[in-house]
Amino acid sequence: MLASQAIKRIFHRSWKPLVRFNHGKAPTAIESIKKRIEDIPIENYRNFSIVAHIDHGKSTLSDRLLELTGVIQSGGNKQVLDRLEVERERGITVKAQTCTMFYHDKRYGKDFLIHLVDTPGHVDFRGEVSRSYASCGGALLLVDASQGVQAQTVANFYLAYSMNLKLIPVINKIDLDHADIAQAEDQIENTFELPKEDTIRVSAKTGLNVKEDLLPAIIDRIPPPTGCLDKPFRALLVDSWYDSYVGVVLLVHIVDGTVRKGDKVSSAQTGKKYEIKEIGIMFPDRTPTGILSTGQVGYVVPGMKASKDAKIGDTLMHLGREQETEVLPGFEEPKPMVFVGAFPSDGEEFKALNDDVNRLVLNDRSVSLKRETSNALGQGWRLGFLGSLHASVFRERLENEYGSKLIITQPTVPYMIKYYDGHERLITNPDEFPDLAERRNKVQAIQEPYVEAIMTLPQEYLGNVIKLCDHNRGQQTEITYLNMTGQVMLKYDLPLGQLVEDFFGKLKSVSRGYASLDYEDIGYRDSDVVKLELLINGSSVDALAQVMHSSQVERVGRAWVKKFKEYIKAQLFEVVIQARANSKIIARETIKAKRKDVLQKLHASDISRRKKLLVKQKEGKKHLKSVGNVQINQDAYQAFLRR
Ligand code: GDP
Ligand code: MG
Repeated sequence: MLASQAIKRIFHRSWKPLVRFNHGKAPTAIESIKKRIEDIPIENYRNFSIVAHIDHGKSTLSDRLLELTGVIQSGGNKQVLDRLEVERERGITVKAQTCTMFYHDKRYGKDFLIHLVDTPGHVDFRGEVSRSYASCGGALLLVDASQGVQAQTVANFYLAYSMNLKLIPVINKIDLDHADIAQAEDQIENTFELPKEDTIRVSAKTGLNVKEDLLPAIIDRIPPPTGCLDKPFRALLVDSWYDSYVGVVLLVHIVDGTVRKGDKVSSAQTGKKYEIKEIGIMFPDRTPTGILSTGQVGYVVPGMKASKDAKIGDTLMHLGREQETEVLPGFEEPKPMVFVGAFPSDGEEFKALNDDVNRLVLNDRSVSLKRETSNALGQGWRLGFLGSLHASVFRERLENEYGSKLIITQPTVPYMIKYYDGHERLITNPDEFPDLAERRNKVQAIQEPYVEAIMTLPQEYLGNVIKLCDHNRGQQTEITYLNMTGQVMLKYDLPLGQLVEDFFGKLKSVSRGYASLDYEDIGYRDSDVVKLELLINGSSVDALAQVMHSSQVERVGRAWVKKFKEYIKAQLFEVVIQARANSKIIARETIKAKRKDVLQKLHASDISRRKKLLVKQKEGKKHLKSVGNVQINQDAYQAFLRR
């Protein structure tokens, strides 16, 4: 059951490699690479990826493999194929994600052509993993000997298993003093039913056993690709990125046939036609070999104008031979699941910022962007993200780059409104939430998105974590003791809306950092959610409204009015701050009018002047009042939202 769910969940990755160009390689070097590939039969191709929980050593192991096969020079911890860390730190991406290697296996006296695809283990980028799986015959399931099986290990296992990949269990970090190899092997056998005898023990750091045991296992256990050279050419579009010199670059897996530079191809999904300008392998940079054939994973430069024409999962075919070519099953398009509003702060121009925001989004194909207008904050944008991590990474990036220039609202998830007349509406903005009258008369049910969360943790934190999940409206579905040593796996159905509220941070803090989390969409469920609004002198500030479960409304409402009061300076008239849900006021705070003492400097005798001044003050008040809540400095909104 989980396996089928796993297939359903498919995401785009959200960063683009900036690939160094390899035309620097001497033509003779490229010729010899070409010759070497030509001499290797498809039976000697091995396409695989490494899957693991974050920090279990994927990138380090990739480095060792690239060194041992002579792709890169040995020495140092380079993480040549790593991107997520850099992405997190600097919001940029530096390296290609896939690499071709040549390996001469002395046992057989033969050359092998190996494609390694490194994958980020994080949940929001699961699509990355599944897409790379689609071009692989197998995967190394890497487990840190000092940590054992963790949440992403489990989730990635299900995905790989569901895609029929041959899995090689690998225990890493056996050089560590506190490595508990026996325990890790136990967990792998108990959790995944992969026999202990099949496990390979390595140290990616020192390289121990990588050459001796791991490379031979890759050759012996991972099956070669199954395509057919004589069939019409077809390729699966696995990934794409934008290169400022050559434009759109596609990473493709050649399923059948052969394709060459200059060939004309067409896309099954868009029907558009292209002529291949450049073609080759990632080694580790773009290395133009002029040809790719069945079973290989490589790149093509199609002279494509827009990145959005590169549909992940698309099939490329030879122009004119579409009728005889079977289109590949492809992938499901990912849908944004977390949304925020962004608005220019005081004094910033929408127009100028619009270009910036659009540019930022352009680099990240998986972000959706729409115009939006707010009563308090004016014209802005609505941004959609794949998941809560994706949203927070991007939001951090916006804040770092546009800090004071943008006001960013609280994240929200989509809600499904089901009407009595049978139609449905998906809303991604609290502003679209049906009002009480509509709810009473027309709405049959409101649903919110749920996920199945997998958590692993040491038993001593079980109580804390269960409490946290209950507090976040979770429903326990499974509890499994991974082995005798006290590692537990918990499964909960949780509302995605709760996850967005820094659930991961809270989980880490109640487990002293030991618990790990992974999750997967499981669809929409009926829910008693309402819209909570913040009112200022009676009018609702739309950009601050939030949809939440009715059980949370009271607590959040009280906190809101209290907090907002802190940021409002006293005005010349009374300001009433209220929280309202379902047409009912939940909480209220008042800021007393500040009576500017305009009379202070006057002598008591100067009565006419005194009267005049009082009248003037009254008019001033009237003027401010007529402007109403807009008098609030936008800094206040910004401070309120930055909690
Ligand atoms: P990834 O997130 O799975 O790509 O993990 P990394 O390759 O970035 O490794 C995470 C951390 O573990 C880094 O600090 C590595 O240096 C360290 N590491 C990886 N493999 C080993 C190993 O075999 N032994 C030891 N002691 N540390 C390792
Ligand atoms: Mg890594």
